[in-house]
Amino acid sequence: MDIRCSDKELFVFKKIAHAAAEMGMPCYLIGGFVRDKLLGRPTKDADIVCVGDGIALAHNVAARFSPSPQVAFFKTFGTAQIKLDDFEVEFVGARRESYSADSRNPEVEPGSLEDDQLRRDFTINALAISLNATDYGKLIDPFNGMADLGKKLIQTPLEPSRTFSDDPLRMMRAIRFASQLQFEIDPGTFEAIRLNAERIAIISQERITDELNKILLSTKPSIGFDLLYRSGLLKLIFPQMVDLAGAEFIDGKGHKDNFYHTLQVIDNISHHTKNLWLRWAALLHDIGKPATKRFEEGHGWTFHGHEVVGGKMVPRIFAKLKLPQHEAMRFVRKLVELHLRPISLTKENITDSAIRRLLFDAGDDLEALMMLCEADITSKNRQKVRRYLDNFEMVRARLKEVEESDKIRNWQPPITGEIIMETFGLSPCRQVGDLKNLIREAILDGEIENNLAAAQRFMFEKAAEMGLHPVNNP
Ligand code: ATP
Repeated sequence: MDIRCSDKELFVFKKIAHAAAEMGMPCYLIGGFVRDKLLGRPTKDADIVCVGDGIALAHNVAARFSPSPQVAFFKTFGTAQIKLDDFEVEFVGARRESYSADSRNPEVEPGSLEDDQLRRDFTINALAISLNATDYGKLIDPFNGMADLGKKLIQTPLEPSRTFSDDPLRMMRAIRFASQLQFEIDPGTFEAIRLNAERIAIISQERITDELNKILLSTKPSIGFDLLYRSGLLKLIFPQMVDLAGAEFIDGKGHKDNFYHTLQVIDNISHHTKNLWLRWAALLHDIGKPATKRFEEGHGWTFHGHEVVGGKMVPRIFAKLKLPQHEAMRFVRKLVELHLRPISLTKENITDSAIRRLLFDAGDDLEALMMLCEADITSKNRQKVRRYLDNFEMVRARLKEVEESDKIRNWQPPITGEIIMETFGLSPCRQVGDLKNLIREAILDGEIENNLAAAQRFMFEKAAEMGLHPVNNP
């Protein structure tokens, strides 16, 4: 079979072939590695299936390297792994599987190569390449996976409804592969996903979210999210996103479909970044719209405050999806909350203090925020798009100007809470916080200069108004 493997991969496969021959055990490359090689995509790990004891084979292979890599094996699953620098090889004995209704974990028993290919989820994932002396390199393709690669088609080797009911994670995987490879899902296979969508309930949230992240990291994530929506899976795993769908009309006035707008924004941002959390911010930027939607007579549809409501939804959504609760979540929430701010700065007569406030609020995430705002432009009118982009260029220029003169990004006010407590002999209390905020606001508003002397003068003035007096240092 003509696939391009690196010298290192070929060297490793030869060693595996020799070990397997010595043990009289037929063995094959199988699964994602074969698929990706045939597609000319980058590959990472390789899976080896052998007709016999996979763990024993892994030990024999490891012993052929010097120094010998460690064999990590899982007796209950009959699998073993060795790591050769950055190349991971997994070994498993060929098996036959049978499922029960309440679990995606099958009963397994030893089987033939064909049994093993039958248990694979899609025809394109069931391709095997022989590592045996008699037909080394031969492609073994009982389900026409090669033809499906050519047709860019995802379908199951067995009856699809059965395949998805046995292991409903495969529904997410089908859609994830469609999004990653930009393949179509065969209509019969897609219909089976629709019919079995409810079965997703037996899959753990971690696995579902892992697939969602892979979809979001694909080149064109809208493919995956549209399929999740149309299959009915999205309603079950992420209902808030489905609430964005549809356009309502009153008195002939409609609003845009915020679901498809969101998909467009995700695709747009994906041209510029591979950062998963920035992509999550794009996914969630309008998530507060359904809850804030109003029709105002003579005005049309409004979504006032959707950025605030959306920001508040982020921690709950992250918790439900078992996404990280700290830094990443705070970043996404911040971007959702701030996503309208740069637009508000495109109006005329914007003061330096408004610019300064955005610099302060966005801090190090300003670039990410500007990227999100630019991705948020989804108008079909090219002139409009040009005008918006030009406006953002102007905002960027103003931000740069004010940043250079004020150094406000990641800035900390010159007077800290400790200084206030020491100066006025206070222990931590509300007055300390109030005074600190007044000083910060005065600097951000440009009322006083951004330096220690000006801040101190202002502090004494405001403290006196609050009835506070400095204590004399001994
Ligand atoms: P990726 O590495 O991008 O996730 P992959 O196809 O290598 O893609 P793995 O999860 O590493 O995916 O699985 C390796 C192989 O195991 C697959 O190609 C497929 O043949 C099989 N496989 C994995 N998960 C399932 C499943 N849920 N049902 C059936 N076969 C599966």
